[in-house]
Amino acid sequence: NIEASIPSASRQVWQKFALKEFADKEEFQQEFIRHVETTLARSMYNCDDLAAYQAASQAIRDRLIVAWNKTQQKHTTKDRKRVYYLSLEFLMGRAMDNAMLNAGVKDITKQGVEDLGFKIEDLLEQEPDAALGNGGLGRLAACFIDSIASTNYPGWGYGLRYQYGIFKQRIVDGYQVEAPDYWLTFSNPWEIPRYEIQIDIMFYGYTRKYTNDDGKVVHVWEGGEQVQAVAYDVPVPGYGTETTNNLRLWASKPTREFDFEKFNAGDYESSVRESQKAETISAVLYPNDNFYSGKELRLKQQYFWVAASLNDIIRRFKKTHRPWKEFPDQVAIQLNDTHPTLAVVELQRILVDMEGVEWDEAWKIVTSTFGYTNHTVLPEALEKWPVPLFQNLLPRHMEIIYEINLFFLQQVEKLFPKDRDLLRRVSIIEESTPQQVRMAFLAIIGSHKVNGVAELHSELIKTTIFKDFVTVYGPDKFMNVTNGITPRRWLHQANPQLSDLIASKVGSYDFLKDLNLLKKIEPFAHDPKFQDEWVAIKKFNKARLAAHIKQSNGIDVDVNALFDVQVKRIHEYKRQQMNIFGVIHRYLSIKALTAAQKKDVTPRVCIFGGKSAPGYYMAKTIIKLINAVSEVVNADADIGDLLKVVFIADYNVSKAEIIIPASDISQHISTAGTEASGTSNMKFVLNGGLILGTVDGANIEITREVGENNIFLFGHLAESVEDLRHKHRFSDVPLDPNLEKVFEAIESGIFGDANIYGSLISSVTSSDYYLVSDDFQSYLDAQKLVDQDFKNKDTWASRSISAVANMGFFSSDRAIDEYAESIWNIEPISLD
Ligand code: PLP
Repeated sequence: NIEASIPSASRQVWQKFALKEFADKEEFQQEFIRHVETTLARSMYNCDDLAAYQAASQAIRDRLIVAWNKTQQKHTTKDRKRVYYLSLEFLMGRAMDNAMLNAGVKDITKQGVEDLGFKIEDLLEQEPDAALGNGGLGRLAACFIDSIASTNYPGWGYGLRYQYGIFKQRIVDGYQVEAPDYWLTFSNPWEIPRYEIQIDIMFYGYTRKYTNDDGKVVHVWEGGEQVQAVAYDVPVPGYGTETTNNLRLWASKPTREFDFEKFNAGDYESSVRESQKAETISAVLYPNDNFYSGKELRLKQQYFWVAASLNDIIRRFKKTHRPWKEFPDQVAIQLNDTHPTLAVVELQRILVDMEGVEWDEAWKIVTSTFGYTNHTVLPEALEKWPVPLFQNLLPRHMEIIYEINLFFLQQVEKLFPKDRDLLRRVSIIEESTPQQVRMAFLAIIGSHKVNGVAELHSELIKTTIFKDFVTVYGPDKFMNVTNGITPRRWLHQANPQLSDLIASKVGSYDFLKDLNLLKKIEPFAHDPKFQDEWVAIKKFNKARLAAHIKQSNGIDVDVNALFDVQVKRIHEYKRQQMNIFGVIHRYLSIKALTAAQKKDVTPRVCIFGGKSAPGYYMAKTIIKLINAVSEVVNADADIGDLLKVVFIADYNVSKAEIIIPASDISQHISTAGTEASGTSNMKFVLNGGLILGTVDGANIEITREVGENNIFLFGHLAESVEDLRHKHRFSDVPLDPNLEKVFEAIESGIFGDANIYGSLISSVTSSDYYLVSDDFQSYLDAQKLVDQDFKNKDTWASRSISAVANMGFFSSDRAIDEYAESIWNIEPISLD
């Protein structure tokens, strides 16, 4: 921007006083005090932990902004291709600890605040989670932007700045109760409002066409409602590099133009109210995980966000004065699930309607730009919008979709001339009443690559939901990029002692950048001293979790017991119901033992956590049952420490950071073929916990990496699932006898009113869609093995160490390198 640039003669002064990074503790303290006294207008006489957190964050944020500016200038002058990661969810968690680590100022800050009378742990606790996501998909986006920055790729995230993140969960009388998560009460130091970046977005209206002076047909979309998108930038610092990328989140605001015609002067109040409605667009995150619900406001959110993001991307591209055909050489856009698929249509609309690019050339540009990541094969999660709703909200986009579909179907027709049914199956428009727009099909047709998120899942999409598209395009368009996790947050931050111990053997912390270096600890798997240190750290982490459980649930748990954890969104396909049925079976079994027999029991603490979508009745019933069982079991004097059951309320990222390092066993027990990847499975193993799991998602690749001896697998395989479901539909499959006893116990009323659990039980006894009964015996057998093996402490420790040593593959840095190479075609840029 030439006009806003400082003339050369004045630049020396700027350079002389340019903000520098603080180099030591004293410089940090100066900045801290300056922020207490000026930014916060407080002093040493009224600075509490919250104020101290805010001042420290401001000081670190200033440091990030210096690096952010430098990075953006470098990326602009280098003028190379960037990737834009479009995700409706970024489940970031807390920022401060991560910012200190990645910016390399952790020790300075820790010592700095201590001298000033604060404990760093207390300050970190002040920060609310940025919970702008539901579960795995949103947390993946957070790990990915950390890795894009840490591996020096030029890349931005684009999302929505929800005022209300995922709801807070409280448990009242055993039931989930939702409370709004207004996380912006105390201003957010990690964002930079960009009030100058305002983009007009239109909804509704009508279309018309005319022929211009050159004889060309021009399409116009006009007459709709306008809102404005305002940018908020969140710096994303890479680890061990100065690269600091950007996460740009959009908030909706009323337009500045007051519509005097629409609102007559006599009705001022209602006209203000009307314009305030604009702000509701980005106000709240939809709380469904793996479930589609076709609300108009959700489609509005999607268009608002992709239109603002594309406008921004195109503005940046235009500054380079390149011809349109070079757009895909400068821009890669990744669609995180189908939520941003409208971007495909919006780019085509901008190119054809606004920029006058010919349809075919525009379409080539579009399809070379986008990549689409599929996250699920569950039918209830696939996005389909009713045509009438779509047409009303986005009339021009609907026309363009019809056009895209027409050209696509003509192409299919040419390849498979007689196959009418194929045309019906692959059409973007589903011929139902009303017709529906199939967003996944639009995403496939509009992208050059489609990927699944673990090997099994990527195979499944090719053979089930997208089979016909493999027929049309051939197999090369479809590929796999197995998910990954950032070792910075999920090892070093969550488990600093384990990270230190690993560093003592690796010789440095380089494994946080090259996770394959974990291999170097494998020779110590059988070293008694190393095992002792390893086990002591696990015990420390268990004690930390035990203290949390005592404080939040009032339950005493024994740190020597086996900690068995299942924390994730509550979903029938994830089968928390099977877990709690297993716990009831364990409870009944222990009660039937003599005092002598009880001595052989491996004591267990069964820990659950996770939110249910507010409208998901069955998931809420599962939560109620877990809490009912917890109350009965924990109060049973016959049982004592042999079994405790805990439901940790309000599972979120900062709780995950305490829970995950404390597990001995974690459960990832989805019905085979339903969990696309899972990422918490990777986090648990990286922290020295073993998995009890089904042959599903990334469990399969984890098994391959850590070895079959270091994981407990059970259950039917994905290829048997269809046949088993068929059997349930067409014959009387007897219920598993142990499960029958569990149901009898529930029905006897020992866990309270049995009627509450009627539908949960009948979901298994009637169709058993999730194959709980079919897998139950195999599950119990695997649990028995876990009980036995946990008794042998040395072997358990060596398995835990070996497993961690082989987890290098699951770094999100590896996943990002794969995306960069095979989908985005981008290269890292060094800041030096
Ligand atoms: N929710 C939160 C708060 C998480 O931190 C994670 C992953 O760490 C998930 C959900 C995803 O868990 P899973 O892979 O078990 O579905």
